[in-house]
Amino acid sequence: MIIAANLKTNLTRSATHRYIQEINSCVQKSSQEVIVFPAISSLDSFSAAVTVGTQNAYPVQSGAFTGEIGLQHLEEFGIKTILIGHSERRHILGESQEFIARKFHYFKKQGFKIIYCVGEPLAVRESSKEEMLTYLYKQYEGIDTSYENLIIAYEPVWAIGTGKIPTLENIKDIHAELKKKSSAPLLYGGSVKVNNVKDILEVKNVDGVLVGSAALYAEHFCSMIQAADELEK
Ligand code: PEP
Repeated sequence: MIIAANLKTNLTRSATHRYIQEINSCVQKSSQEVIVFPAISSLDSFSAAVTVGTQNAYPVQSGAFTGEIGLQHLEEFGIKTILIGHSERRHILGESQEFIARKFHYFKKQGFKIIYCVGEPLAVRESSKEEMLTYLYKQYEGIDTSYENLIIAYEPVWAIGTGKIPTLENIKDIHAELKKKSSAPLLYGGSVKVNNVKDILEVKNVDGVLVGSAALYAEHFCSMIQAADELEK
């Protein structure tokens, strides 16, 4: 399974080093694929069993893009994994599907592993299933769903950081629909916690989880990795 942590705008560089060190011992004992996305300024070369990815980068080698980082900044640390399409970038930072697709193609060309996020806001969730799927499928526009280094994360916007999650039956239903669009590994994300991770990982077509706030404590994130190991025993 794939167990990923999105640390968002948390943990300084030194705190991230401590974090990676702390989770390294449980990652070494685990058979899960573990990916951590630190804040951009906390990216570094880490000697650990965990894969470190970037939460964002501009689709360029380098240049005049104030406030952004480019490929050369990732190459400095050997980073080959990127999160694209996260709902906070779509809804807070205003990234359009067209720009997201451009970013996707740039990093695909560079051979990056791409964790590509899709998810619907509450108003869409409260409409019909058909409207909800239409909304989600629009987020696949311009995306190569057969890219071999693609991982998709289904993250309902209303479940991110709210403590609310869809029912397990809902997750099963949506994941079954999304698997029709792409056979890439499909993660669930949105208020995954130590106390619900096992149930979520047991749902059909859930190939892992993307965890935000509950992953900020290394101990909690390790418990989630261990929960995945226990399920595979
Ligand atoms: C996320 O932002 O990717 C996420 C899943 O956040 P949280 O776990 O805090 O809901």
